[in-house]
Amino acid sequence: MKFDIIIIGGGMVGGALAYALSKGPWQIALIDATEEKTEDARLIALNDGSCCLLKNIELWPTLAPFATPIKQIHVSHRGRFGITRIDAQELGLDALGHVVPASYINNAIFSALRNTGNVKIICPATLTALSQDDEIATLTINTATGEQTYTADVVIGADGSHSTVRELLGISTQKTDYRQSALVTITELARDHKNIAYERFQENGAIAMLPLTDARVATIWSATNSYITHLMQLDNTEFLQQLQQQFGYRLGRMLHVGKRATYPLQMQQAQQQKKQNVLLIGNAAHTLHPIAAQGLNIALYEVAVLTEYLQTQSSLKSCLQNLPLDFLQQNFSRRLSHGLTELFSKDLLPLNIARQVGMIGFDQCIPIKKKFASHAMGKAGRVPRLFIKNTE
Ligand SMILES: Cc1cc2nc3c(=O)[nH]c(=O)nc-3n(C[C@H](O)[C@H](O)[C@H](O)COP(=O)(O)OP(=O)(O)OC[C@H]3O[C@@H](n4cnc5c(N)ncnc54)[C@H](O)[C@@H]3O)c2cc1C
Repeated sequence: MKFDIIIIGGGMVGGALAYALSKGPWQIALIDATEEKTEDARLIALNDGSCCLLKNIELWPTLAPFATPIKQIHVSHRGRFGITRIDAQELGLDALGHVVPASYINNAIFSALRNTGNVKIICPATLTALSQDDEIATLTINTATGEQTYTADVVIGADGSHSTVRELLGISTQKTDYRQSALVTITELARDHKNIAYERFQENGAIAMLPLTDARVATIWSATNSYITHLMQLDNTEFLQQLQQQFGYRLGRMLHVGKRATYPLQMQQAQQQKKQNVLLIGNAAHTLHPIAAQGLNIALYEVAVLTEYLQTQSSLKSCLQNLPLDFLQQNFSRRLSHGLTELFSKDLLPLNIARQVGMIGFDQCIPIKKKFASHAMGKAGRVPRLFIKNTE
């Protein structure tokens, strides 16, 4: 069977791309290894650019009831002076971003996709072989009814960190294993969080508390693998005590914690992002440390840029050959997330002083904060149309 575009991987990135492209004239196949997106415990901080994209492709009305605005970001280091605040009002904004549970993003994308006429969702189905010439790519897909062969002008690999597309293209990766994991849960508070997102760095990791609906926060505790294993072994009462003790009382008293899930942390970068008619996006191209909450944000930036680029092409054949890759790259955020992890995981005296001075200085310098915030919000450099608020 022939398609114009085949997307391998129906996670949040592949799904959002399929839906953004469904507004165009193409026949698209979205292929995913799993039947349905089962529980996804991740709680995602979407920057302003990502929220604009979701508004522009009309997914926001479904997500809005579950989205909590971030009005202020507060960064501190346990046992040291220096607090950094980034305030939406100070920067002339309504919000710095919104926190939305990943399960709602997945559901919103898939319910919208089921109502489109030009996207065929093929799942559970796994890519097993891929070959290509200058004009067309041929894919072998293992489905419930046996092996199928599909062809396409353009193939997008959005199949995550362990990408089969990347492997079949023989693209190697550069990896940094932090030997850390992230523990994710939801914490109920005795009082309102006032829409403040907290990031608290400690000797052995970091605790992020992101505002959710109904006096709840998303807790993301990143630390060494052994420490996270220890935290997972505690019962809920013991875990809550540890969290309250390590995070402090900036959010008042913590009442309950929900189910805990863990994710291994690594940074991975594909050495090449495209080969002939095949392009990698999202985690298949780059996996980031969630400390800076940028992995999905960067991928949605790629979705916006790619959609805009494909809309300008009269033919899809060989069109990726001319796609300028610096279009797709938001290196600042990648450096930011790697740099933050490196900086705060080293306990060296000169670094401590530097980061203390840096954090105090940063808090007092509005132009630097504006620049930093515009990068973190996805609004630095070239901004694709779908990342801009539609005022019509
Ligand atoms: C704890 C945690 C918190 C995070 N918080 C944030 C945040 O606040 N903000 C932010 O921007 N980012 C955040 N991230 C990062 C973000 O979750 C990821 O960047 C994003 O979800 C990547 O999505 P993806 O679709 O590229 O990959 P995935 O979600 O891994 O999806 C890949 C899909 O491909 C399918 N697949 C794999 N192999 C095949 C195959 N051979 N054939 C067919 N299908 C296949 C899989 O079934 C899967 O559905 C966080 C990450 C973690 C771990």
